[in-house]
Amino acid sequence: DSVGFAIVGLGDYALRQMMPRFDQADRAHISALVSGNPDKLAQVGDAYGVPADARYFYEDFAKIAADDRIDAVYIVLPTAFHADFAIRAFAAGKHVLCEKPMALSSAQCAAMIAAGRRADRKLMIAYRCHFEPYNVMAMRLMRERAVGTVRLIRTEQSYRAGPTTPAQNWRFNRALAGGGPLEDYGLYGVQSALYLSGEMPESISATTFRPDGDPRFTEIFAHVASQWRFPSGAVAQLATSYDSANANLAQVRGTEGTLIMDPATNYSGLNMRIEGSGAVALTPGDPTTQFAGQLNHFTSAIRENTPILTGGEMGLRDLRLVEAIYASARSGQVVKLASDGRMRG
Ligand code: NAD
Repeated sequence: DSVGFAIVGLGDYALRQMMPRFDQADRAHISALVSGNPDKLAQVGDAYGVPADARYFYEDFAKIAADDRIDAVYIVLPTAFHADFAIRAFAAGKHVLCEKPMALSSAQCAAMIAAGRRADRKLMIAYRCHFEPYNVMAMRLMRERAVGTVRLIRTEQSYRAGPTTPAQNWRFNRALAGGGPLEDYGLYGVQSALYLSGEMPESISATTFRPDGDPRFTEIFAHVASQWRFPSGAVAQLATSYDSANANLAQVRGTEGTLIMDPATNYSGLNMRIEGSGAVALTPGDPTTQFAGQLNHFTSAIRENTPILTGGEMGLRDLRLVEAIYASARSGQVVKLASDGRMRG
């Protein structure tokens, strides 16, 4: 009862991270490929033993409807294409695992959720940290009040991008990626702030920055920073950048101690400790199991109808927060939020 996946988009993350991990999953296999590049289709198809008649071009995507080898589609394309391919996959009767960010806007997310419901197919967003042992332990520790009452959460996700332009690199192209680092690397900070606090923010204030005359940042922001206030009174400060030295930090300061995850959400090599009364280093398991763990969660949902922890509603919630952050930065005002992340007033 292994689930056959069509991989849609043969880019860096698909080829180097996810596809090599399918063998580690309990019952997932790569049964088809979808790409725009005939050479890649041939080369990757041969490497993974995908038959020639299961190698599709993007323009032939609708044909997957007639291919019973494909149960589910894994969308690993630039963000701008997530909604369209997800909706077409549902129309073809397939389940959808979609990379983060779910889409460019909350409106696109809502359309994806509706299409999945109409087709009665599963939709999961590939938020891998929910299946990563360090992050899973951190969520549990925070629920168990391991640092006491949470007061301040700090997240930082940054790297310094080499010389590139919106034409060369989709991540710097607004039409393909949205506003910039927030939707991409910064989304890990958004997610961490939510699952470590266990709360939704009731208000957000934010600021963006774009250096003048830098060819990398003609379309997107270089830095996005925001401050969130939670109903409990806890505060989160999030910063993300494509033009700062490497950071991948999540930190929770409570009344009794501090949880430090640094790096917090990498593919491997994570570090986590609690400082305060009795410092402890925590080593809950191998972070690289997150990829197979994510696939196992999705295939169980398909085969046993188990609930999906990271469904379309979570992706939609996060896009609402992204939109609230940009709205606050644009207006210079604090944005108030309902508990589902919708902006109020
Ligand atoms: P990438 O640039 O390496 O790959 C993108 C793929 O899309 C390429 O094969 C490219 O040819 C194809 N493509 C199709 N149409 C395109 C177009 N018009 N412009 C540009 N490329 C086009 O990017 P990536 O790093 O593999 O990211 C792909 C997706 O995976 C994104 O949604 C990204 O956010 C997500 N991602 C997730 C993680 C994670 O840890 N979960 C990590 C990296 C990337």
